[in-house]
Amino acid sequence: MTTQICRICEKDLPITNFYSAPGNISGLKSECKECYNKLRRGKDKRGYDPKRHTVTRMQKKRRDNPEKYKAQTAVSNAVRDGRLKKAASCEICGNVGRVEGHHEDYSKLLEVKWLCASCHRNLHHGIIRKPESW
Ligand SMILES: [Zn+2]
Ligand SMILES: [Zn+2]
Ligand SMILES: [Zn+2]
Repeated sequence: MTTQICRICEKDLPITNFYSAPGNISGLKSECKECYNKLRRGKDKRGYDPKRHTVTRMQKKRRDNPEKYKAQTAVSNAVRDGRLKKAASCEICGNVGRVEGHHEDYSKLLEVKWLCASCHRNLHHGIIRKPESW
């Protein structure tokens, strides 16, 4: 019986234990099926990158709503550069803490209302209405 030594587990195994690989001189993969599968599984796990996942989601967002993306980017850049000052509290409920810039009109890049995350979400979902003073 023809055998081949697996480069990973170094066992001398019958060639039926190897996948074929037309590109190799032997015509077979140099690791046995078992090792090859283990290797592939390992690769898949390592290949998963949560950061990359976020980027694609961001890119999707950007593509779906370029106006919004542009406006949000303008705001965060302006805040970073000190051209725009974040409010200390939510303009709807008055909660002090982390606030997010909300655009009434995405074409007015730096005209934002500062809202806490929950008011912001509720406003977009139509759960609460914007104050009449806006
Ligand atoms: Zn092996
Ligand atoms: Zn709020
Ligand atoms: Zn908003």
